[in-house]
Amino acid sequence: MSSAAPPVTLLYNGTVLTGGKTSEVFTDGAVAWSGDRILAVGLESDLTERFPDAGRLDAHGGMILPGLINLHHHLYSALARGLAPSSPAIDFGQILDKLWWRLDRALTPETVRLSALLGVADSIRWGCTTLFDHHSSPSCIRGSLSNIAEVIAEAGLTALLCYEVSDRNGHPEAVAGLVENLTFIDRQRNHPRLRGTLGLHASFTIEDKTLDEAADRRPDGCGCHIHVAEDALDFQVSEVSFGGAPLQRLEERGLLDNRALLVHGIHLTSEGRAQITRNDSVLIHCPESNANNGVGRLDVERAAAEGCTVGLGTDGMSSAMLRSLRAAFLALRAGRRDPTAGFATLPSILHTNALVARRFFDEPLLGEIAPKAPADLCVVDSPPPTPINADNAFGHLVYGAAEAPVRHTIAHGRVLLEDFRHTTLDIAEIVEGARIEAPGLWERFHAIGDSPVGRLPI
Ligand SMILES: [Zn+2]
Repeated sequence: MSSAAPPVTLLYNGTVLTGGKTSEVFTDGAVAWSGDRILAVGLESDLTERFPDAGRLDAHGGMILPGLINLHHHLYSALARGLAPSSPAIDFGQILDKLWWRLDRALTPETVRLSALLGVADSIRWGCTTLFDHHSSPSCIRGSLSNIAEVIAEAGLTALLCYEVSDRNGHPEAVAGLVENLTFIDRQRNHPRLRGTLGLHASFTIEDKTLDEAADRRPDGCGCHIHVAEDALDFQVSEVSFGGAPLQRLEERGLLDNRALLVHGIHLTSEGRAQITRNDSVLIHCPESNANNGVGRLDVERAAAEGCTVGLGTDGMSSAMLRSLRAAFLALRAGRRDPTAGFATLPSILHTNALVARRFFDEPLLGEIAPKAPADLCVVDSPPPTPINADNAFGHLVYGAAEAPVRHTIAHGRVLLEDFRHTTLDIAEIVEGARIEAPGLWERFHAIGDSPVGRLPI
């Protein structure tokens, strides 16, 4: 006896941008799905005829996009909003030492959970259905990735998680971080939607023996997710203390491969970018975070022209990928003083994110609206007021959709946000929990004291 097929849902009354290599645009379009798979995409009139008994979800004229993919997030940072160090952080090293390396130390399992809930709720609110997270909580390393995974599974997203290995608090802690990665990677190896990778903080906080051990114990086929050349500090410390440039240290241990996620890359030379290209690794651009930290700017178009695969993330600054896209576009034009810049690379960067995510999950159509693809969709409440087609769709995204709220978010066929309201998360309860826990977290943060936290010579 076969079980009945899951019901069909038709998302209609929208303009569909299918994503994929040659993105199609359907005005008066619709998408049908059943269970966790897309059945069809096309004109609403055709799909209504084909699926007359489908349940219906109204897009209210908005733009129907593939669920957005964030290649670099820090869910743990959510409770830092409004938190200031006791004295101003005047450079990148101080931003880490006075803010992030104290906040992460002050985290408890409960505040890790609440931070993840806030970040995941925000991701859903901005149409994100797949996220790559980079976690740190030195006072509660063991089990932290499972703690986050539980939140993500309950909320309904796809995610690649890792713990950032670092010697900044001493070698035993680096080993504990490595073990947390390895345990999670092994446990989740065959999970379709929640997997692990090897997290490394950055070359300048990782000693040779730790990198050696990470490379030796890394399971076959598992990549690494690491900050690279976010600031000149990464080069200075890596070369003076460890005798090699950041990418060189990774490459000589076999850690540069097609699953290496290299975040920022602002201060790389063309030689470094060639190393990335040669190894088919991924450079991840986080423009809002770079601007916020005052660390410089990646010339995303140049990196792509030199052959690098360049994806996009938010680095914990927010969970809004379309806004990150707009920021990348504006930063490139501002930096180059060139009003023609941006159209060579950025219109395809969301598709690049999909191609990168496919390297980690057994989903050859992830990030695309096509039959048999995962039913991951979002509807941006930005009805196009002017003609839209495949050639000008990027303009509609950066000048319109990037500023609009998301009406619906659907992940693997589950409607997680419906008419702007979460269906799997209780936002009022999450915010209430955060308000109760945040003062204690901030108190622990300030109690750590004024002396430098990291033991490395920054
Ligand atoms: Zn980061």
